[in-house]
This record gives sequence, C-alpha cells and structure tokens, in this order.
Amino acid sequence: MTTSAPQVLVVGAGPVGLSAAHELARHGVRVRLVDAADGPATTSRALATHARTLETYDQMGVLDELLSRGQRVEHFTLHQNGRRLIRFDTDYSRLPTRFPFTLMVDQVITEEVLRDAAARLGVTVEWGVRLDGFEDLGEDGVRARLTGPGGRTETVAADWLVGADGGHSTIRKQLGLKLAGESSETWLIADAVVDCDLPKDSIHWMRTPRGTVMMVPFPDEGKWRLLDTAETSYGGDDRMVAERFAAKITAGTGKPAQVELPSWVSVFTIQQRMIPSMRQGRVLLAGDAAHVHSPASGQGMNTGVQDAVNLSWKLAAVLRGEADDTLLDSYSAERVPVGAELLRTTRMATLLVQLRSRKAAAFLRTAFTVLRNLPPLKGRIQRKIMGGMSALGLGYGESPLTVAASAPGIRPGERLARVDAAGAASAQWRTVLDELRRPDWLLLSNGATHHRSLRTVRITDASVAADLGLRDGDWLLVRPDGYVAARGDAGQSPRAALQSLGIRVRETAELA
Ligand SMILES: Cc1cc2nc3c(=O)[nH]c(=O)nc-3n(C[C@H](O)[C@H](O)[C@H](O)COP(=O)(O)OP(=O)(O)OC[C@H]3O[C@@H](n4cnc5c(N)ncnc54)[C@H](O)[C@@H]3O)c2cc1C
Repeated sequence: MTTSAPQVLVVGAGPVGLSAAHELARHGVRVRLVDAADGPATTSRALATHARTLETYDQMGVLDELLSRGQRVEHFTLHQNGRRLIRFDTDYSRLPTRFPFTLMVDQVITEEVLRDAAARLGVTVEWGVRLDGFEDLGEDGVRARLTGPGGRTETVAADWLVGADGGHSTIRKQLGLKLAGESSETWLIADAVVDCDLPKDSIHWMRTPRGTVMMVPFPDEGKWRLLDTAETSYGGDDRMVAERFAAKITAGTGKPAQVELPSWVSVFTIQQRMIPSMRQGRVLLAGDAAHVHSPASGQGMNTGVQDAVNLSWKLAAVLRGEADDTLLDSYSAERVPVGAELLRTTRMATLLVQLRSRKAAAFLRTAFTVLRNLPPLKGRIQRKIMGGMSALGLGYGESPLTVAASAPGIRPGERLARVDAAGAASAQWRTVLDELRRPDWLLLSNGATHHRSLRTVRITDASVAADLGLRDGDWLLVRPDGYVAARGDAGQSPRAALQSLGIRVRETAELA
C-alpha cells in the first residue's frame, strides 16, 4: 500500500492483477492493488503453466519457488478403449527454451508466490475493497469509487486504471466493451486422488464408449485433475462422480483404476470470448477481463500474465515521460491478435478433447498407426502443437513497436531468450539472461555499436552470436519484456530505431 497517491490503480488481485502490480512496482511505479474478495481465492483453477510464462516468471524473479512446487509434464498420451494409441513428446528443437515442459502448479500457489513477491516490492493487496465505478478525466487521470470493509466508501485518484477484475469485469462493463464470442460445451471437472499406474509426466486423454476423459497430474502424490466432456450430472454426489471416473479410466486405459472422493468438483460452460480493444483512454484491461478461453488448452492465466507484463513496462515508460501515451496503443495492437489466435486454437483444442464423432474411433486408430511409423510427420505435429501451446512461437512481428528487418537469424518481434538449458550455461548467455531480469531496454552488440542511454552487452562468444544470427557489427535492441524491437548492422543506429518507436530512454551504464 502506498501513502502518496497511486500512479496506477490495479483492480483485481488474481494472477493478472498481481503480475501487473509486481511489474509496475519493479519499474518504480506507485501502485495500489485492491480486490473485492475477503482474501485469496482457494478454489482449484489453473494448473498448466507453459514455457513462455516460465521464461517470463524468470525475468520477474519468481520462477525458482514455482518450479520447486510444480509437476513437470512432457508428454501427451492418447488411449482408446483399453489401448494406448500414441504418446506425443514435447519437441522444442525449433523453439529452444530453458524450460521445455509444462509446469503443473495450482493457481492458488502461483498467486501466493506472486503476492509475496509483490509485497517484497511494497505492494500489498487491499482485500475487501470493491471498485464500484470510475470516471476517465483524460489528461487528469481517473477517479474511482471504492467500497471497503464495513461499507466505507472512498474516491481515489490515479493517473491510470488497470482492470484485472476477471471474467465479470465491472470495468469492462462500464466501458461498454462487449466480450464477444460463444459459450459452447458444458464439462465437469474433479480433482481427486486416483489409484492407477499412469505416468505423471504426461497428460492422458482417453476415449471410452461413454465419451472422452482427460487426466492432468497435480504435483501432489496420486492427485489428478479429471475432466469429463460428456457426462456432467453432479447434484453434489461426489461418490457417483468418483465411480463414474473410475469406470471410464478403466475402460479408456484397459487397466483397473480407483478414484477417491474428489476434493473439488465443478460443472462449467466453456466460454470463448474477447473484447475488440484492451485500451480505452486512461483505462486498460488485462487477463480474463479482456478474454476468456476454454480450459481445454490451459491458456487463460498464461495469456493474462503475458498481457500484464506487456502492459506494465509501457505504462511505466509513459509515467516516466520516456514515451507519449500513444505507446499504450501498442498494448492493444499486440495483445488483441494473440487473444484472437488463442480463441481459434482453444476452440480447436476443445473440439479435439471432447471428440464426439463415432467415426473418429476408427479414424484415430488408423491415423495414429500411420503417425507412429512416420517420425518426421509426428515431429512436425509435435512442434506445431508446442509452438502454439507454449506461446514460444507467439511474437509481435506485425506490431507498430517492431522495426521490420530481413536479416537471417532472430527477427524483430521474436523473444530474445531462445536458448536451451545447455546453451544457457555459457558465461555470455548467463550475462544476457541476467540483464533480461532487469526492467530496462537492452542492446546486444556484436561489434562497436553502442548507445549511451542503453545497457549494452557486447557479444564476444561466437556461439551466442550464432544462436541469434548476429554477424560482425550486428546489434539487437531488446524491449524490457524480452522481445526484440529492432536489429541492425554497423551502418545503422539503435538511436534511429528508438526514435522511430517514440522511445526516449534514461541514461544507464554500459556493461562489460
Ligand atoms: C477449472 C479451470 C481450469 C483452468 N485451467 C487453466 C490452466 O490450466 N491454465 C491457464 O492458463 N488458465 C486456466 N484457467 C483460467 C484461469 O483460471 C484464469 O484465466 C485466471 O484466473 C484469470 O486471472 P485474472 O487475474 O484475469 O482474473 P481472476 O483470477 O478472475 O481475478 C479477478 C479478481 O478480481 C476481483 N474483482 C472482481 N471484480 C472486482 C471489483 N469490482 N473490485 C475489486 N476487485 C474485483 C476478484 O475478486 C478476483 O480476485 C482455468 C480456469 C478454470 C475455471
């Protein structure tokens, strides 16, 4: 909590509001973070944290604690009526990362880690404080009406308002922005301990005569998230749900399974919707307030955290006078297409996960027999799935904040940290990755190019230059969120690139 007026009021202390508050504070912005709930949510929600989010958590400095509390998943196994059809492995060969897996970690834990990290930066959540409405005063910022514990009301002034207030966002509704899209299937989810011998480094999908079931492992001993896409009756009968899942898992895998009484059951309708713009004047929307997805591909929280990180450095730059507020238009320009693409892929994932058609059974058997015998095709499919799901393949190539360049190697708009764990052990990559953990612009220079206001790493290791496709004299200009904004050669200047992007950075020291 701050004593002086906040520069940014963040509404909602879910994973997205927490990430935004953390990142804004890391950039030196005064933040106030309020949430209408009495305290942290305890219900089971996101489990899957994908590779790009893990890289982002590393930049934020919260990764180590999450890694130690999660379960790594590297496979996707399909079973049908008692037979294992195929196992897809992760394939990050075209999109190298230090984290080639999906980390299953309960959203409750993710939020706890983010909350503690934000508190260390001086931002604590004000629970029981609801935003009722706001006015956008243009140049004069925003004025918000809050109701706190005991019905105490308050008017708070801030320069900017960030709406991370979830799928039922008050802020989105007041802006009149429509969450357009569809609500489709109703599914049932249960978290339970299952006695079975399925490996826990894999998600398991199984087709049974009574519909499809998916199993996602928790880090906890024997615990799985069970998802039924066909039979969703519940009526509070936990035993019936446990027995129904046990029968289906037994039928799907062909091995007897027992399911204990679930610790949590939920029946929900899948929503796939988004808004057309994530900025309106002094108000910015992020996370579920802006787009909601089917949980089939585990993307909602991951995407929202990326929204928060994309937005925070831009807001901080505008508040520091390093850019005009038009920089914030690039937030919407970059994140809306990502949300739209995700809606397309999560819709596809939803269809695949539930796979209703009876003809599909025979087709699957044939298709996977062919695939098992064609490793290159299987590899291509694995890479395609991973590129989208991990978000490593998503970038900002078409953004107004990207200076197009045609040189071979890493392209403007792509993330910089494309290196695997072995490569990242080199001294030079360690320096680069350390620099990425600082909330500043960065220049990588494979020659003499420098800029007195930019932190600069001179690339002296030929293998790092090769990883990034940097020839002698080439340089890369990297944004605070780790994406390449521009690249050039010895005859071009990063200053001109920054100017064309409307960025005026502060002076910082040059690195060795
Ligand atoms: C069963 C299930 C499984 C899922 N699995 C995954 C997964 O594996 N991977 C994944 O990435 N995503 C998954 N998701 C989605 C993920 O849970 C959401 O995308 C994520 O919680 C969105 O975070 P958020 O911070 O935007 O919103 P929320 O988590 O909804 O937080 C919004 C906060 O705003 C507060 N608030 C609301 N209105 C106000 C107001 N007027 N004033 C003050 N505070 C307010 C609320 O109290 C709440 O704390 C899953 C969701 C479900 C339900």
